[in-house]
Amino acid sequence: MDLQLNGKLALVSGSTAGIGYAIARTLAQEGAAVIVNGRTQAAVDEAVERIRAETQGTVHGHAADLSKAEAAEETVRRFPGINILVNNLGIFEPKAFEDIPDEDWQRFFDVNVLSGVRLARLVLPDMKRADWGRIIFISSESAVQIPTEMIHYGMTKTAQLAVSRGLAESVAGTGITVNSVLPGPTKSRGVGDFVKDMARASDKSFEQVEAEFFEHVRPTSLIKRFASPQEVASLVAYVASPLASATTGAALRVDGGLIKSAF
Ligand code: NAD
Repeated sequence: MDLQLNGKLALVSGSTAGIGYAIARTLAQEGAAVIVNGRTQAAVDEAVERIRAETQGTVHGHAADLSKAEAAEETVRRFPGINILVNNLGIFEPKAFEDIPDEDWQRFFDVNVLSGVRLARLVLPDMKRADWGRIIFISSESAVQIPTEMIHYGMTKTAQLAVSRGLAESVAGTGITVNSVLPGPTKSRGVGDFVKDMARASDKSFEQVEAEFFEHVRPTSLIKRFASPQEVASLVAYVASPLASATTGAALRVDGGLIKSAF
């Protein structure tokens, strides 16, 4: 299938590793010019080189903390005409509810929600002028099944669904679509490191910790394993494509069947 992404310019926030990296690489493979973003120049340079080598695509690098207003504004000034925005950057941290201070609630909101809201607001005028655009929020199954071990994270992922749906309705009748994608547990760099640390601390193998995680912590998973970042990226690339023009205002799952609902 040709995803018809030639000539499109895509920004993927937080794309030097994990799910964001896989999305940036896949969009580049499918012909989009891609802006790779991370917080350090070294990480950005490395990711750009790898994606260029793997795809022979057009890849720009942009080191910036996109959870900050000035950085977001500067990014959109430097790269006018963004056609595809993937709001991927996000943080997680297991913490008991009683131990989560106000500052953590605020930080999670700022990084996971407001960063994407702001970037969407900044790219929307160009998308409206072109009467075409794709805005995709990388939410999580945790938006629906709030993890008791990180309720603040769940709150941010649910908020993304609200913003995404509301924004889709606000651009009804245009060529712009807005969707959220809900990955399940995915073996990104962040999660991979987390599981490796748990395995080391309990003297178990990665596979043992993975099996126990899906038996006790996420027992409703139907695939009983972490998804790969590529499995998430494949869905995102389709949603970013002109072929997905009738898919908007949706919360699309790539959760390994973890959410216990057919809809
Ligand atoms: P990750 O930690 O592996 O990678 C995140 C990337 O974002 C890194 O390159 C990091 O440097 C970058 N980043 C973080 N904060 C940034 C900032 N302020 N500015 C610019 N770059 C920044 O993360 P991941 O697991 O791939 O998660 C990506 C997204 O997917 C997040 O929104 C997360 O909530 C969501 N998600 C992940 C999983 C999972 O199991 N991995 C499941 C559901 C949803």
